[in-house]
Amino acid sequence: MNKNIVPHDYQISKEDRQKLKKHNSFLLWFTGLSGSGKSTIANVVEQELFRLGINTYSLDGDNIRKGINSDLTFSPEDRTENIRRIAEVANLLVDAGIVTLAAFVSPYKKDRENIKSVVKDVNFVEIYVNTSLEECERRDVKGLYKKARAGEIKNMTGISAPYEAPENPDIEINTEEVSVETAVKQILDYIRPKLQLKNE
Ligand code: ADP
Repeated sequence: MNKNIVPHDYQISKEDRQKLKKHNSFLLWFTGLSGSGKSTIANVVEQELFRLGINTYSLDGDNIRKGINSDLTFSPEDRTENIRRIAEVANLLVDAGIVTLAAFVSPYKKDRENIKSVVKDVNFVEIYVNTSLEECERRDVKGLYKKARAGEIKNMTGISAPYEAPENPDIEINTEEVSVETAVKQILDYIRPKLQLKNE
């Protein structure tokens, strides 16, 4: 930290904000290939949490790559910077008392480890949306795989750029075997105890 930056001692803490909201806050991080189902599942999880009165916010390619990260490409260095900034934004949201959902390919293990250290292990729930490349390519939701195969897109994860699968995710979802509803239930069952405040 720059030696001239002296943090101000704010009197309202994260715990105060969580008490006001009546639930804990943490980060749900969805990782997996493009088209694996990250945003589809995150979207339904957020709707369910909203229905339960939980304060949420979703970060995804649309509101990040078009805004704060509009200067970044898909080169390995920029992908790392992309995830670093998202981790810092997510950390602020979690500090604000918000259950934050983030759906990003995030192909590098070291970048995901870095998110964990930014938001702290206890606030980080890694959800591996495990869908085979064949299935993602068959779905080709955004037509990106077709373009990548035609050589129109460089650095396409799974085709011309690597995806390092999580070894010990908190939750793993195989979308070729389970429905969206089942996946959402699996996630909600996992996070329900985490939502509780310590003294309640
Ligand atoms: P990503 O956010 O990972 O790029 P999307 O959520 O945009 O992927 O797209 C996933 C596609 O796969 C959607 O069209 C969705 O309807 C479909 N799909 C089929 N089965 C499942 C499943 N079990 N879970 C999630 N998505 C599924």
